[in-house]
Amino acid sequence: MERLKNIFVTLFGNQLGLHERFFNIACIGGAAGTIMATVASAISISRVAKAEGMGFWELGKPGMIACAATIIFFILTFVIYRISKNLNFSIVLCLVGLNFILFPALYLTVGGIGSGMPIYFVMGIVFTVLMLETKPMIIMCILETVWYVLLFLLSGKHPEAINDVFFLMPEWAMYLDEAMDFFTVALSTSVLVKILALCFEWQQNRTNELLKQLEELSVKDPLSGAYNRRFLLKYIESGIEKHKETSAPLSIIMFDIDKFKRVNDDFGHLIGDEVIKGFAQVLLQSCRNYDVVARYGGEEFILVMPGASEETAYARAEQIRQKVETSSFSPEINRPVTVSGGVAGYLSSYKNVEEFIAVADEKLYTAKETGRNKVIWKGSGEQEGSN
Ligand code: GH3
Ligand code: MG
Ligand code: MG
Repeated sequence: MERLKNIFVTLFGNQLGLHERFFNIACIGGAAGTIMATVASAISISRVAKAEGMGFWELGKPGMIACAATIIFFILTFVIYRISKNLNFSIVLCLVGLNFILFPALYLTVGGIGSGMPIYFVMGIVFTVLMLETKPMIIMCILETVWYVLLFLLSGKHPEAINDVFFLMPEWAMYLDEAMDFFTVALSTSVLVKILALCFEWQQNRTNELLKQLEELSVKDPLSGAYNRRFLLKYIESGIEKHKETSAPLSIIMFDIDKFKRVNDDFGHLIGDEVIKGFAQVLLQSCRNYDVVARYGGEEFILVMPGASEETAYARAEQIRQKVETSSFSPEINRPVTVSGGVAGYLSSYKNVEEFIAVADEKLYTAKETGRNKVIWKGSGEQEGSN
């Protein structure tokens, strides 16, 4: 099963260009389809031969030879491409051989206009459309169509050119032959169209998936999983726009891990990374609705809270601070990790995002200056931090 899948991927997989995939489908599907049609014809011919008291070969020789030539041709074209690696040459060879020689030969040997061959001509045109670039495709389609039309007209004028096996058939055999030809062409065309549709769908899903990953990569910090600084600034800007429209409050909390250099020095950089990830997790878990957590710098994070008043933001910051104090981010660390925070609520008097963030930074600085492991906001004057 695994081998079969590998062969399928090698011949029809996404790593190949579209034209090469269709070429492979045409060669392999064409050989398989012709084998099916040959078997069907052979059954009809043998029955007719029996009914007419004739030998099978006597009646079916030209048709069988044309069928065998077509099967060999498909396989040969496929092998020629495998050896020469010249796709354009192989495609043209396949289309010319098929549409200008083999299909017309089959038409003349299996019964002309009354046989099932004209349905196969449509397949020949479909292959041309799928395998060639626009300009050569248009030229080739015109040539093929003219050639087939001429063939119809000339065979009408010279019916003696057509092997009359078809007309010897009893009526039921004619209908059976037609039914088999129709079945073969309908099956191969619909399988082809289905493969096309599946390829298209698969490719579209893959593109969407990659786009999503790309979007994620361009806005997220890989270590912590939080948003990056670029996204943060944009998000705050959009929050400010919303504030201007609706006067809804907008608050931010800036956090910085206390004495983080010492964590790195004492336990190593990798453990330091674990602490950054663990702290980001605490922040992400505390997010609600439209809250956004972003890594602002090394071990500095900002939580943006649209719709939250400064007081609400302060309460949340306090919860986070306490949660961090009681969390263990790595079994190696034998002392509590703490964070300090500064809260700012947006005021219309702020000129830009930077000024808004600077206010939170100022409060954070005060928290660091006055002992760390605390959150400072505009109300901290009365409450004196929260340690
Ligand atoms: P303070 O309490 O005043 O904030 O002291 P601090 O030691 O935390 O001082 P500061 O904020 O200046 O130090 C930040 C340190 O964070 C410096 C840098 O080596 C470290 N750091 C920055 N980014 C990373 C990172 O991605 N991984 C690790 N392990 N360390 C980082
Ligand atoms: Mg720090
Ligand atoms: Mg810092």
